Amino acid sequence: MPSVAFLGLGAIGRPIAKRIAAKFPLVVWNRTADRAAAFASETGVRHAQSASDAAKDADVVVTCLSTSLDVEQLIGADLLRGLKRGAALLDCTSGDPATSRRIADKLAAENVAFVDAPVSGGVRGAEDGTLTVMCGGDANDLARVRPVIEAFGKKIVHCGPVGAGDAVKAMNQALLALTIWGTGEALVALSKLGVSAHVALEVINASSGRSNASMNLFPERVLTRAFPRTFKLALLDKDARIAAQIARDERVPAPLTQLAADLCTLARQELGEEADHVEAVKVIEKWAGAEVR
Ligand code: NDP
Repeated sequence: MPSVAFLGLGAIGRPIAKRIAAKFPLVVWNRTADRAAAFASETGVRHAQSASDAAKDADVVVTCLSTSLDVEQLIGADLLRGLKRGAALLDCTSGDPATSRRIADKLAAENVAFVDAPVSGGVRGAEDGTLTVMCGGDANDLARVRPVIEAFGKKIVHCGPVGAGDAVKAMNQALLALTIWGTGEALVALSKLGVSAHVALEVINASSGRSNASMNLFPERVLTRAFPRTFKLALLDKDARIAAQIARDERVPAPLTQLAADLCTLARQELGEEADHVEAVKVIEKWAGAEVR
């Protein structure tokens, strides 16, 4: 039974950590200490005062921060001192491949394994333990951390070497951004034309234009005007920009991926750092002078 440390109790980190706490001995840490204290009193696990203190006895250290650069910075500032030789760092951040490769090299010099393991499925998927987890790293390292991943993941896929999980996640996110934006444009135009968005979605969701955006996000969040804040637009912007960078690095002309990144950046500037990703639709509505209804 490996002991686990969990660093980063944000919107998705918290429910992932809760599922790990139900199966493994766990110590948690969060930059804003109040959040770790609240989690500890809710679940009965220990919360540490520093990342290195949380990690010092852990066989598997899970990170779930905003960006790979945050993970790299934390390792340099404090975490590296606490990591046990022979431990593994499982990074559930939706990261960027180049930084993950740098982190993996740095940790390898200390005999610490690294697996990038970004997730998809949202807060609800984390609560239910049904996340898709896309992993990059050595197959033996993944086998070691797999029992921990199984506490919160249902579909666990080894995508390739370090960084491959990050790359698949970034491309998935660019597709998410494109389908949100495209579905938004379609439904605003149809609303203006006089076709109800409910009727339009009834057709689209039984036709070839359907997507997670049309089947789930729009019915649950846009048509209801609920726009719950579960995944920041700022993070989708970060993801789409990683995807565009990968395409550039690989010399693949990718105008749509770049457009997804540019539209996310524009919407982020318009709506602010706390806006949810689905709120991007509000920008289309503002431009058109009409709501999806
Ligand atoms: P949040 O903004 O809710 O939380 C971010 C977490 O990272 C917080 O715990 C924050 O600490 C911590 N953090 C940020 N920067 C640093 C830093 N420099 N040093 C230490 N800690 C830091 O984000 P989410 O939980 O939503 O997302 C986390 C990751 O998971 C992101 O990469 C995101 O793209 C990805 N993701 C999110 C999903 C979602 O539905 N929310 C779904 C799939 C992936 P503090 O509390 O102090 O701010």
